[in-house]
Amino acid sequence: PRRFFVGGNWKMNGDKKSLDDLITTLNTAALHDETEVVCGAPAIYLDFARSNLDPRIGVAAQNCYKVTKGAFTGEISPAMIKDCGVDWVILGHSERRHVFGESDELIGQKLAHALESDLSVIACIGEKLEEREAGTTEEVVYAQTQVIADNVKDWSKVVLAYEPVWAIGTGKTATPEQAQEVHEKLREWMRANISEAVADSVRIIYGGSVTGANCKELAAQSDVDGFLVGGASLKPEFVNIINARA
Ligand code: 13P
Repeated sequence: PRRFFVGGNWKMNGDKKSLDDLITTLNTAALHDETEVVCGAPAIYLDFARSNLDPRIGVAAQNCYKVTKGAFTGEISPAMIKDCGVDWVILGHSERRHVFGESDELIGQKLAHALESDLSVIACIGEKLEEREAGTTEEVVYAQTQVIADNVKDWSKVVLAYEPVWAIGTGKTATPEQAQEVHEKLREWMRANISEAVADSVRIIYGGSVTGANCKELAAQSDVDGFLVGGASLKPEFVNIINARA
């Protein structure tokens, strides 16, 4: 029985006014009790989001650096995230990998440090379109998951987000069958390479053009334990996505 998990990734969107409106919508909505909800805010609004969101809704940073403090202009550390009362960080997002060139090695180092700093982590993986077309999806996501596994001791603090790059921000959602196939294979990989208990308990969530309209079909898949939502997490329909299993 894995608790359904819905993350919103606001990316570099919103301002105090629009985020305040969104926060009011979330705070006053009827959210399914069984769903764990976490909103990923831009670094500069982490404190604002944590101060204003209802405590039953978690907050995540969208990135962090691999050490506690020092001469790393422009970066934020897990210690600073914790200091703002924020318990989560998103790491390895496709945009960090492909727009900002973050390597698997750097993502692994960040992951290890975030977990040591007592943050929970939404760790993201996913293949590019050319990789899917070349038939290498499994190879790609297993390699990315291996790097994550090499840096995790306590899997209870990790949610694995499968976000095929071709589905992110494109309106081209993976079909429920495509999502289920990869999630099931990832769970089998975990069973073989980590442990039975981890494979059974880790939430594997899907991201990529999830909307209020397609969330129920995806949520009905046995290995889809929730979502990481970009564009639709800024809209009132995010409430419907949170309640996809209700
Ligand atoms: P979209 O929901 O906008 O496709 O973004 C998905 C995503 O990248 C969430 O992290």
